[in-house]
Amino acid sequence: MTARILDGKSLAAELRAEIAAEAAALHAETGRAPGLAVVLAGEDPASRSYVTAKEKACAAAGIRSREITLPASAGRADILSAVRALNEDDEVDGILVQLPLPDSSIEREVIEAMDPAKDVDGFHPVNIGRMVLGLPAFVPCTPAGVIEILRRAEIPLSGAAVTVIGRSQIVGRPLSVLLSQKGVDATVTLCHTRTNDLARHTRGADVVVVAAGRPGTLTADMIRPGAVVVDVGVNRVPDASRASGYRLAGDTDFDGLRDVAGAITPVPGGVGPMTIAMLLRNTVEAARRRRTAPA
Ligand code: NAP
Repeated sequence: MTARILDGKSLAAELRAEIAAEAAALHAETGRAPGLAVVLAGEDPASRSYVTAKEKACAAAGIRSREITLPASAGRADILSAVRALNEDDEVDGILVQLPLPDSSIEREVIEAMDPAKDVDGFHPVNIGRMVLGLPAFVPCTPAGVIEILRRAEIPLSGAAVTVIGRSQIVGRPLSVLLSQKGVDATVTLCHTRTNDLARHTRGADVVVVAAGRPGTLTADMIRPGAVVVDVGVNRVPDASRASGYRLAGDTDFDGLRDVAGAITPVPGGVGPMTIAMLLRNTVEAARRRRTAPA
């Protein structure tokens, strides 16, 4: 079997065109384009490139973006005061603080300082709580992107056995909640480093989502033939043949899995583009809610 490649890039392009149309409609209705503010502290190259990609995607979708760049030496008070100023700024519909911060111990406090109505990353406890309760909420972009890829690729989830590898607060755990929600209706197994016999859980799955942050976590012998594989991982693997000195790899043995899986997402070009599209969608949604909410 040669797996169908789930092309996140083209699925995201489709979604981005829909979002651009919504942004244009909102601009026409309210006289202002939706606006995203991105806070970037420090000069981590991966964070820099994620922020640049997000800003480019905003521009292409008709969303204004503003970057607040702080030095790596910026302290807790500087970052909190930047976030609070954006909370009060009527021009800003969505706020994104690029993680990791140079001092990761303050990340929770910074996220909690954000107005939940502008939390387009969906990390604020109010949004997480509302998501768990099944209420309207900003949902974290990567888990939302995984569901959207599967939906657009017409992979059935209702009644499906889905195994998620990774229980992080930004990917695995919220994804397990979304997949098990009424309306999506998957039966979810959530695995982590303390899981006994990981392969037993992956072999029983119709869909395996890997978000472990370790190359080669899922191999061909660990799935049943025809299973769908979604690879969330983004790892920089040293590669002397490239000018950058590295190549991007996911968390799976992609070449091996291609011969066994029914469908698989590539890295790059799978979940990544969809994650950015979901950020745009949340930003337009934030703008719509703020501008059409009763006073
Ligand atoms: P994380 O916070 O490091 O969490 C990794 C999770 O995987 C942990 O729950 C860990 O278990 C589990 N894990 C690690 N190795 C495992 C193994 N061998 N078997 C079973 N479980 C294992 O990572 P993250 O933030 O969720 O990110 C995961 C990956 O997705 C990274 O490569 C990241 O770069 C990528 N990512 C991609 C996007 C995108 O847009 N494409 C967005 C976000 C993240 P424990 O809890 O027991 O430690």
